[in-house]
Amino acid sequence: MNQFQQARNQVIQHIENACQSVERDPATVHLLAVSKTHPHQSLREMYQLGQHCFGENYLQEALDKMEALKDLDIEWHFIGHVQRNKTKHLAEKFDWVHGVDRLVIAERLSNQRLDTQVPLNICIQVNIDAQDSKDGCEPHEVAELVAQISQLARIRLRGLMVIPAPDHLQAFTDAKQLFDEVKTQHARPQDWDTLSMGMSGDLEAAIAAGATIVRIGTALFGARDYSK
Ligand SMILES: *Cc1c(COP(=O)(O)O)cnc(C)c1O
Repeated sequence: MNQFQQARNQVIQHIENACQSVERDPATVHLLAVSKTHPHQSLREMYQLGQHCFGENYLQEALDKMEALKDLDIEWHFIGHVQRNKTKHLAEKFDWVHGVDRLVIAERLSNQRLDTQVPLNICIQVNIDAQDSKDGCEPHEVAELVAQISQLARIRLRGLMVIPAPDHLQAFTDAKQLFDEVKTQHARPQDWDTLSMGMSGDLEAAIAAGATIVRIGTALFGARDYSK
């Protein structure tokens, strides 16, 4: 068994254990492989092990990998900071965008998504634990954003995304509570099915609180090298 296969099996086992301890069906938790800084060859290897969803943070890096991997049927998630002037590529090239925190961004994504494509899946990013330096809207803004964004034609509003501070596990429970509260504001509540939270170091607590997508980088690919 190679290194990636071993790492992926371990992560899947970890997810299954976390589900078992809170009596959740493991099929309700999706593993998103976070591949930023890793070369396209590594994604191809992971793909061949059955990993078909990948998360990227940097647009140009992601576009280069898409080109190199265009023969594969990958579901691409953008999990980085969304810049207003980059929405066109996000709208056209990705299947999901997790970091939407303003109405204007969602409107641009909706307008720029092509008619020939299925609606773009998005999550609203919430600054759930009031971090100074973080992206994301404030929790009290979420209900109105759900009401507005869920009306957009080319958008499928799926849920919330949070990145709490390390060891701030209470934030996952807070996110789940907010997720449940604002569902009633959604124009199509049946679409509201996603809580994107949990990374390599805290996936257990995220799953216990109700995560449906865990975003895992280091535990799958090893440590990142930002020097290149
Ligand atoms: C990099 C990143 C991850 C993966 O973090 P690991 O600790 O390597 O698992 C998850 N979510 C977001 C938003 C990230 O930027």
